[in-house]
Amino acid sequence: MTQVFINGARDDANVREHDSLDASIQELIRAAAEARNHAYCPYSNFAVGAAIRTSDGAIYTGCNIENGAYAASICAERTATVKALSEGKREFVACAVVAEQDNGFTTPCGVCRQFLSEFAVNGKDIPLYAAKPTNLPLRVLCTSVLELLPNSFRFLNGK
Ligand SMILES: [Zn+2]
Repeated sequence: MTQVFINGARDDANVREHDSLDASIQELIRAAAEARNHAYCPYSNFAVGAAIRTSDGAIYTGCNIENGAYAASICAERTATVKALSEGKREFVACAVVAEQDNGFTTPCGVCRQFLSEFAVNGKDIPLYAAKPTNLPLRVLCTSVLELLPNSFRFLNGK
């Protein structure tokens, strides 16, 4: 049998049917898909939505927001996380990312992986679900922040 690799994940290992996931995860994916509708991406036309759930059960959403000075752009994952952080939230229990690419799932970029890994500490990983807004029946890549970025940078001086 041929194994299909999607962004480094074996199709049979990490990809699950949307309907088989917990209701709370389905809700998170739905929130990310809705946030994607607010993406400001006039340069790339690549819309991304993200949602992150905090330990108190709240969901914060974000979309990518581009800028004519490209480096000033921010990804959906960091938008969502910054919204939560700016309201005092520090513990994250799950993250969802929704974008549309023909040939695979969209996982967080390197900067977002590092950003999220800052909060995957004390033995707590953050499960991450990547989905597409279409292609029913919806399938979801189930991974985690630390799986996507093992051995992330840690600032250890003075700690
Ligand atoms: Zn990113």
